[in-house]
Amino acid sequence: MATESVILVTGGSGLVGKAIQWVIENDPSERYGKKAGEQWIFLTSKDGDLRNTNDTKAIFAKYKPTHVIHLAALVGGLFKNMKYKLDFLRDNMLINDNVLECSKEAGVKKVVSCLSTCIFPDKTTYPIDETMVHNGPPHDSNFGYAYGKRMIDVQNHAYHEQYGCHFTSVIPTNVFGPHDNYNLEDSHVLPGLTHKCYLAKQNNTPFVVGGTGKPLRQFIYSRDLAKLFIWTLREYQEIDPIILSVGEEDEVSIKDVADAIVKAVDFKGEYSFDTSRADGQFKKTASNDKLKKYLPDFEFTPFDVAVKESVEWFVANFDQCRK
Ligand code: NAP
Ligand code: GDP
Repeated sequence: MATESVILVTGGSGLVGKAIQWVIENDPSERYGKKAGEQWIFLTSKDGDLRNTNDTKAIFAKYKPTHVIHLAALVGGLFKNMKYKLDFLRDNMLINDNVLECSKEAGVKKVVSCLSTCIFPDKTTYPIDETMVHNGPPHDSNFGYAYGKRMIDVQNHAYHEQYGCHFTSVIPTNVFGPHDNYNLEDSHVLPGLTHKCYLAKQNNTPFVVGGTGKPLRQFIYSRDLAKLFIWTLREYQEIDPIILSVGEEDEVSIKDVADAIVKAVDFKGEYSFDTSRADGQFKKTASNDKLKKYLPDFEFTPFDVAVKESVEWFVANFDQCRK
């Protein structure tokens, strides 16, 4: 069958990109699996630096995409965000500007970009919904990343109003799964604690969790998010963003996360909290009502099952995974 659409996934080697590739290659359903006539291209930074306009133009000239899922970003957990605020702002603004402008120039039919619930206003009412992205300053710990990301929504509306482009965005909550970044210091909480707990078990040392363990987060398994990304690309028609999250009732504390990891790693040693470390934003509870209206029957993988699969993947791939 002739190729009818070329779907370019920027950031295709990362946590979310690898999950989209896995779903496209393995899901048997028509809604999420690969369709006849589709060619999927998963980019890495080795294909070009998307902060660089010429590299980005060369990628678009080479692949001639009809659709783009834009994931590439400078990404990191709380502690990395606190250290590199200007890098988070500039790198992400440059990447987004290059990808969206090249998409417009190439006549791409649809772009789905990625925001995050940590870009929402710090002082807000809960639950947060899609209408509140620009309602006030973000939490100070990650304002560089947050303002860089918020601009995507502004750009999407400007491209739509001036040029009629169909550029939209999704807002995932905290993501985890196979192919995460397991760096001990610069990663997100779930992969970071997985690595720490694994080492504590191997070396018979205490397992230390940063902060008080009290902050609350909603976690989405990367393979669930991947399905929702594919649905957004194929079926979601709005320019306004949509929150991709488990429900408010599935929000867990950082202590719950540590407990789930301890169980999945089968760690039996000493376990404590280092309260001298930052807690970051206490919570950012998001509503998934809009998603539920579109996809009332979507089934999320239970948190414990997803943590177990992710920990098993980490242990099996310890030597070669990102850390
Ligand atoms: P990730 O695992 O760190 O992957 C980042 C991807 O971006 C990699 O493929 C990386 O390529 C690529 N990349 C980074 N800088 C680049 C550059 N200058 N030029 C070209 N490619 C570049 O990140 P992720 O967790 O999958 O995140 C994907 C998207 O989801 C991001 O937009 C992020 O903001 C968003 N998000 C993530 C979370 C989360 O909890 N992880 C939550 C909400 C939203 P290499 O592999 O070659 O370095
Ligand atoms: P956030 O949701 O954007 O704040 O991102 P994170 O994934 O970095 O989660 C941060 C929360 O987890 C904060 O409350 C941290 O205090 C807590 N935390 C505990 N241990 C760790 C760790 O090893 N790494 C990270 N990134 N956060 C940790």
